[in-house]
Amino acid sequence: MVVGYGKSIREKVRTAVLKSKARYQCPKCSRMAVKRASSAIWQCIKCNARFASGTYEFK
Ligand SMILES: [Zn+2]
Repeated sequence: MVVGYGKSIREKVRTAVLKSKARYQCPKCSRMAVKRASSAIWQCIKCNARFASGTYEFK
């Protein structure tokens, strides 16, 4: 089975969007409260700590 080029790109975009909308654990207060604030800035909604991380994924 041949996987179309366009399909794999769409799949990557879909995964990136899902990751960018997910909440991540805050390294400072350890609560699941880190959300993407802008392209590579992530902010904890509980303690307001800001982190620079990946564009679509908090690491
Ligand atoms: Zn926090």
